[in-house]
Amino acid sequence: MTRIATSLLTSVALSAAALAPAHAEIDVAKLKPVIEASVESDYPKLDALYKDIHAHPEIAFQEVKTAAKLAAEMRALGFEVTEKVGKTGLVAIYKNGDGPTIMVRTELDALPMEEKTGLPYASHDKTTWNGRETPVAHSCGHDIHMASWVGTAKALLGLKDQWHGTLMFIGQPAEEIVAGAKAMLADGLFTRFPKPDVAFGLHDGPGAYGTIAYRAGVGSSISDGLEITFHGRGGHGAAPQATIDPVMIAARFVVDVQSVISREKDPTEFGVLSIGAIHGGTAGNIIPDTVFLAGTIRSFKQEVRAKMWAGIERAAKAAAAASGAPPPDINIEEGTKAVMNDPDVVAVAAKALTTAFGDKLRTTPPVTASEDFSEFVGAGVPAMFFNIGVYEPERVAAARDGGPPLPGNHSPLFAPVPKPTIETGVTAMTLAVLSAFDERARGK
Ligand SMILES: [Zn+2]
Ligand SMILES: [Zn+2]
Repeated sequence: MTRIATSLLTSVALSAAALAPAHAEIDVAKLKPVIEASVESDYPKLDALYKDIHAHPEIAFQEVKTAAKLAAEMRALGFEVTEKVGKTGLVAIYKNGDGPTIMVRTELDALPMEEKTGLPYASHDKTTWNGRETPVAHSCGHDIHMASWVGTAKALLGLKDQWHGTLMFIGQPAEEIVAGAKAMLADGLFTRFPKPDVAFGLHDGPGAYGTIAYRAGVGSSISDGLEITFHGRGGHGAAPQATIDPVMIAARFVVDVQSVISREKDPTEFGVLSIGAIHGGTAGNIIPDTVFLAGTIRSFKQEVRAKMWAGIERAAKAAAAASGAPPPDINIEEGTKAVMNDPDVVAVAAKALTTAFGDKLRTTPPVTASEDFSEFVGAGVPAMFFNIGVYEPERVAAARDGGPPLPGNHSPLFAPVPKPTIETGVTAMTLAVLSAFDERARGK
């Protein structure tokens, strides 16, 4: 017979005996209210944690206080916590008998931007970044992920007799600069600690709270950074014949390079190149020596990526050659891989989530943004990354019907409704983890 924490039983009209024992398929219909009761009774604490983290965000690799808060929460639950993994990351392990290791990941970092939500718990904090003072805000919603992560850990400990194995809860730094997952792996995440059998992560976004979106296969884009310096020969703006004009070369390149996307890449395959920065020159009557460009390259498939890299390089060299300029310096930096959602992990979790959420669970096309959760997948861990909504369903419906648009992630106005969002995050993640334990326990 199974036992669950008495604190959970007090708030739901459910007898422990009614729950399915471990090693039989989990009874989602009965587990869901137990999990919801766990979140409900924990919510004041989760809310306080969420608002504290929201009001005091920290950017990539500066998440010292954030990590300490999560470490304290997890130690209080009985997890064995190791800090400073991958600079500012943490790993929290809880062993509960023999069985698989399931990893749940949250990010820790915020963004170097000003929050303009006007919420009572809005961030007014500032930090130094790249030598400059900047405001800091949790405008990507990673604070929601952290609260959901702690809530999930609590819910799973309350259901300890429903699973056997090891929980590996990780707090990953520096997602926004796609460097934290790599830093944790380089610091022995899967050698100093168990390599998980399955991993889960979630992200919030401007959909309706209570809804969940997922997909099998590719979930987010491959991201690469592009930097080009065009070299010319500076001189007087009134005497261009004595110069080689790198501003014109850069302008030609910015336009021409899009033909790589429209004429060389298979039009049925996803690929995007955006030039987000151009720096060159100081005054209107001086032709500068150099112009610097920075951009981002996104794709889903390696072959599309390779084609774009080659085309971009050719377009840059051709733009310089057309003006008789020296070859440009081209630096394409590998960012992060695409998140590949494992079809088997997804199928099992989706079955549990469908029972729990019905038509509020939807499949979604892959997103063109990137996410360094892909590094854990790339290290050989079958995984699922899913999305949850944050806004009132009525506001989402109104926006869809031409009403006021809702601020998305990275907007200074991004303002999730905390309670229903965190509750959905905890319930969905707890069921996903239970489904994975169960599947592995049954030898699949
Ligand atoms: Zn972000
Ligand atoms: Zn994010």
